[in-house]
Amino acid sequence: GASKVQNQTENTSESTDDTDETGQTKSEISLLHKLLNTRLVQAKADIEVLRKDPNSPLYSVKSFEALHLRDTLLKGVYDMGFNAPSKIQETALPTLLADPPCNMIAQSQSGTGKTAAFTLTMLSRVDTSLNYPQCLCLAPTYELAIQIGEVTRNMGKFMTDLQISMAVRQQRVTRNQPLRSHVIIGTPGTVMDWATKFKVFALNKIRVFVLDEADVMISQQGHQDQSIRLQRELSSECQMLLFSATYDADVMAFAERIIPRDPVVIKLRREEQSLDNIEQYYIECADQQGKFQALSNIYSAISIGQSMIFCATRKTASWLAEKMTADGHAVGLLSGELDIEMRAAIIKRFRDGKEKVLITTNVSARGIDVEQVTVVVNFDLPLTRDYQPDCETYLHRIGRTGRFGKKGLAINFVDGNRSLNTLRYIEKHFGRKINRLDADDLDAIE
Ligand code: ADP
Repeated sequence: GASKVQNQTENTSESTDDTDETGQTKSEISLLHKLLNTRLVQAKADIEVLRKDPNSPLYSVKSFEALHLRDTLLKGVYDMGFNAPSKIQETALPTLLADPPCNMIAQSQSGTGKTAAFTLTMLSRVDTSLNYPQCLCLAPTYELAIQIGEVTRNMGKFMTDLQISMAVRQQRVTRNQPLRSHVIIGTPGTVMDWATKFKVFALNKIRVFVLDEADVMISQQGHQDQSIRLQRELSSECQMLLFSATYDADVMAFAERIIPRDPVVIKLRREEQSLDNIEQYYIECADQQGKFQALSNIYSAISIGQSMIFCATRKTASWLAEKMTADGHAVGLLSGELDIEMRAAIIKRFRDGKEKVLITTNVSARGIDVEQVTVVVNFDLPLTRDYQPDCETYLHRIGRTGRFGKKGLAINFVDGNRSLNTLRYIEKHFGRKINRLDADDLDAIE
């Protein structure tokens, strides 16, 4: 069925583009986030609103009732388990639903409710008595389009006449035979074909145009060009919306081309990661075996809720997973060769507490936010590709503990001068003491 997400992209060139230093593509990370965001990420940072016309103040809502949605749609929203708008929805929705329609560029980290916001906008503007496409949503990959399709179908399930078409590869249309569906969700290439080659819908009749995951979209030049070409054919009355998880000069330049007419710009900054609440230690070990011994001591000496262990290579990670499993620990192993769905499944199991320990390489750790992790172990310290201390990754790994005011614990293993130097470098970089710990005497941390 539609919920089966395949680990394929629309064409092969996509998966090779824009691979980050850990070998993951932006769209992979983005999809992983989507698969994992089964719950709302409660943002604490403030909303920043930039707009051309300061005389038309934005207002925000605290309830979905205040938006005066049609009954069937409101029912769909509640049926999804949404009680109140998320932070970004509070500010974005009144503007998104206002008349005359207002164009918008919105950025917030994934999981904060953007998809739900634009889905709601499309569904509240659609007229199901008119049997032609009125809303068009572009997503950068097949999988992301499918996810959006599912949300839209789910939210609109009480709108009995609603028809949605998925403009993704393998979906066939007949040339010159007009679509009777109300909403089209798809990837730029297929949407382009449907509009211009097969002529199954009219771009100038679209009333709401959404471009999602703009930061992933721009990492593929072809998509960027196609999106711009599609946008040019829209009518001037069409409401144009662009969403992105990140916000930098490239994204903004693209956003301003896609949404040229006076957009309201809404930004929700990501919470800063810090080492404030985290006690950091290091343990000197002779070698890999010594690290394992130290780890065993730690797990028997202190009671650990959930922990993550980072290894430099897949080989070390699976070696360690085997040894710990043999010692009776419930261990999850996350590594880079797994496809996105497998990774999401393993992270979900860990989140649900089915495993207490998650062993991972850095590659696969992107996109994980597990609130209940109290201990992070760097079995190997993070290094960049050219073997320099990787402070950013260190912060990213460690920063996941000690959240929400809870105290976190980070334990770093060093073996030899090289790794000790790495540790000193990291210590100096953050200006936070990393205390030495004796693996045979762990009283200091309990
Ligand atoms: P984004 O597009 O920013 O990644 P989503 O719209 O996919 O975020 O929302 C993330 C998760 O939170 C989804 O599981 C979604 O169902 C849920 N969600 C969205 N809005 C709300 C809300 N107002 N209340 C509760 N859950 C919500």
